[in-house]
Amino acid sequence: MSKLDLLTPPRREDRHPATCLAYGGSLCGSGKKGEKCALAADADRAFTQGSICPLLPAMGMMLSLPDTAVLMHSAVGCGSCAHGVNGNVRSGHAARRGKPADGLWFSTALDEVDVISGGDAKLERAIREIDAAYPLQAVFVVAGCLPAVIGDDIDAVIAKVQPEVGARLLPVHCEGFKSRFMATAYDVVYHALGRNLLPRPDQAGPREEKTINIMNVSSMGRLDELELERLVGEIGLRANFFPVFARPESLRKAAVAALSISTCPTHDDYFLSHLEEKYGVPYIINHMPVGIANTGQWLRDVGERLGLGKEAAVLAEAEEKEVREALAEFIPHFRGKRVYLSAGEYRSLATASLLRELGFEIAGIRSFHYDEYAEVELEKLRRDKRDFVWSVANVQPFEEANLLKRVKPDLFIGHWHGNNTAGRLGIPTHVIYNTGYGYLGYRGAYDLARRLFRKLKNPAFTRRLGRYARLPYKESWYRAEPFSLIRSKTGEAV
Ligand code: SF4
Repeated sequence: MSKLDLLTPPRREDRHPATCLAYGGSLCGSGKKGEKCALAADADRAFTQGSICPLLPAMGMMLSLPDTAVLMHSAVGCGSCAHGVNGNVRSGHAARRGKPADGLWFSTALDEVDVISGGDAKLERAIREIDAAYPLQAVFVVAGCLPAVIGDDIDAVIAKVQPEVGARLLPVHCEGFKSRFMATAYDVVYHALGRNLLPRPDQAGPREEKTINIMNVSSMGRLDELELERLVGEIGLRANFFPVFARPESLRKAAVAALSISTCPTHDDYFLSHLEEKYGVPYIINHMPVGIANTGQWLRDVGERLGLGKEAAVLAEAEEKEVREALAEFIPHFRGKRVYLSAGEYRSLATASLLRELGFEIAGIRSFHYDEYAEVELEKLRRDKRDFVWSVANVQPFEEANLLKRVKPDLFIGHWHGNNTAGRLGIPTHVIYNTGYGYLGYRGAYDLARRLFRKLKNPAFTRRLGRYARLPYKESWYRAEPFSLIRSKTGEAV
């Protein structure tokens, strides 16, 4: 039985038993027997400053789909992250279809009375009102924590209302308390799409031998899509991007493509295995095309799998030569500069490989979580035996502040909502991912180098910010060992 036959997807921590959120040590230390991150698979922090609800990435994906709305069934605050992701939604539509469009979302805003008397009737009313007011193809009906606590049944409500409304209703179980790994969000949305919008295997149509699926869960903007489209186009293949900003046609094509290739295993493993099991679409889930060597490997993998190995190798070699020549002017400026990275597990590690190609030293990496997929990227970094601090933390800025004060990097690269600690310490920052910029492929490597060159040339803004801004921690915390609050399940420091 496929996982997608279940009403709700399994939790990440159940699918990947080695998954962990709490590790503090070094790159090389993490590779020693008995000291792998698995050491901390049952570990946690004695103090935790925050976490990321899976609704954040889930909303980013769902809101991007055209002619679709999101109906949050939960407390009023759930889904409010939609305000933060709407900029990406607008610019994503503009880049793909020539004009911006807002994400459309609603909330049943469950209150104290609903907690006592149940919110099913309110949900039913909301679905009918949305259907009457908007001509939509689909509505994601999303359960946050509260319906799960009070026993509301979104699937039963949907089953009752569906025959009477025009839009396809897609149940999404995204209760924040169910999983501490925000990557669960990708499984949850893929689960809803896969169960409800993929065609039946016997109705999918003939195999498209030149089409390859390239998954984008919102971690690349249109510039990156264009770069990957260009590269696979050079060897005679067509890219089918989904799920973000995708039309239903992309989902139909996904079922008949010749191959699926991931741009990030953290994002895609759940759905890729389903496409293979149910539709016979094989997949590759090895490398993220960030950096020169990684992009070459990604491209060669595609070529080899589809009998185009020679074409892919020739293209990768020519592209690599060109980009290395273009990058030569920047490398003397970067050589020896120390960078600290912070991001999702795969992005942080793959970007570190790219930065080494540009001449930077890696001073440290904080990955948001760890699972077995990270080992491929960790091994690449361990190969040249230059060690650095590596930690796993679902954000935890207090730990980051302590580490940055010790490590004193020349540059910090993290998410746009996660650069403020470094900024307030006066460290120049850059976003590790912004949909308006290019990061992937050969062009992405060059674009990133240009931006970092400009950033390092004039770090006056963050230097000045560091002079006046303050962080809320006491001196005693900066004197403490940064990982001293990581504990095993039995309470011992690890
Ligand atoms: S953790 Fe639960 S209550 Fe909080 S935002 Fe996420 S779904 Fe809503």
